[in-house]
Amino acid sequence: MDRQQEFVLRTIEDRDVRFVRLWFTDVTGTLKSVALAPAEVEGAFAEGLGFDGSSIDGYTRIFESDMLLQPDPSTFQILPWRGEDEPTSRMFCDVLTPDGEPSAADPRQVLRRQLSRAADMGFTFYTHPEIEFYLLQSKDPGPDGQPVPVDQAGYFDHEPGGVATDFRRHAVNMLEAIGISVEFSHHESGPGQNEIDLRYADALQTADNIMTFRTVIKEVAQLQGNYATFMPKPFGQHAGSGMHTHFSLFEGDSNAFFEPSAEFHLSTTGRRFIAGLLHHSMEITAITNQFVNSYKRLWGGGEAPSYVSWGHNNRSALVRVPLYKPDKAGSARVEYRGIDASANPYLTYAVLLAAGLKGIEEEYELPEAAAEDISALTSTERRALGHHSLPGTLHDALRIMEDSEFVAEVLGETVFENFLRNKRQEWDEYRVEVTPYELQRNLGIL
Ligand code: GLU
Ligand code: MG
Ligand code: MG
Repeated sequence: MDRQQEFVLRTIEDRDVRFVRLWFTDVTGTLKSVALAPAEVEGAFAEGLGFDGSSIDGYTRIFESDMLLQPDPSTFQILPWRGEDEPTSRMFCDVLTPDGEPSAADPRQVLRRQLSRAADMGFTFYTHPEIEFYLLQSKDPGPDGQPVPVDQAGYFDHEPGGVATDFRRHAVNMLEAIGISVEFSHHESGPGQNEIDLRYADALQTADNIMTFRTVIKEVAQLQGNYATFMPKPFGQHAGSGMHTHFSLFEGDSNAFFEPSAEFHLSTTGRRFIAGLLHHSMEITAITNQFVNSYKRLWGGGEAPSYVSWGHNNRSALVRVPLYKPDKAGSARVEYRGIDASANPYLTYAVLLAAGLKGIEEEYELPEAAAEDISALTSTERRALGHHSLPGTLHDALRIMEDSEFVAEVLGETVFENFLRNKRQEWDEYRVEVTPYELQRNLGIL
């Protein structure tokens, strides 16, 4: 037993922890949880905990259903919202096959593989997500059938005594109590829409933190009688919820994207990384934007990107290089704005890191930065400048992904096939739906 495992067992005893939840995710990034009695934890460290993989989306087929959960002791935390009485804790798990090999179906493993590729190239990959979500009065719709937000406030509004202000204070305290550092929190542009930005961490920790974040936000919302949603576009007329993420690569202590004398202080490594993101962006959009609803955000305005482009400080661009001071070498970074708030963070960061690394390895050339508001250009102007449209629907995105050797290699055949199967089914269900829009357009029903 290693020291971290010993620490976990000692804490369970000292704090009289009653339940230990083991967490992992399915192929779409839904959190799965099994509660373990404290006496079973030592055995789970030694041998893993068996579960039926065939009942989890994207794991094994029925005839090979035994899988093992291997708890990662570095992720042990007491869950603050369960209170001090009979405390409950959690650990994230890696999923193993019965013979102890990493499972090819585990999204956490997909990210681990890319992180070790980055490490082989001498890089550590840091990520900093800006997570947007809507706070609704409840899960029930209003009389018009639409979700009902908790307020009518807008970007950066401060409403003294407002529901969202209180909510953010509770949520940030809860996140800090579970070991997740928060940098900023504010009201976003939509009614009831909020944003909370997490501090930089390595990408595996960030992905675990995002899974925890979604749970914390939903729990805190429920504690105050509301409902939180990470749905990419709950309201047609208001901004969608993105999960823009800032990336940086470090070589030891030095930021590999920083070059003091270069244009925008962006090193050749940084330029090639961005070129990789742009070059592969179409193939990976099904991963960064995995729901039918995701495409209502990408094509519905509200500062979501619709075209493949990069810009220096350009909010319609897919990739943005934020302004940073040359004396702040450590903060050189690039922001990918395509990701939405419901993406599977493990798969998303894996494909984006792989795209950037490929740009570095293959020495991709970075095209010209887009200076203007890209959505204001005519389609001819856009084509002339090489700004391709991102896929318009989940169907388009899946068609591009299924031809991509790059994505198949990064995800591995198992996750690649499982993901496509799950998402094709979603598209098939959606395309036979007759929507209120059609009833209005073709039958005049309001
Ligand atoms: N809500 C916008 C999106 O869906 C982003 C707004 C912002 O720049 O923070 O991407
Ligand atoms: Mg925002
Ligand atoms: Mg942003």
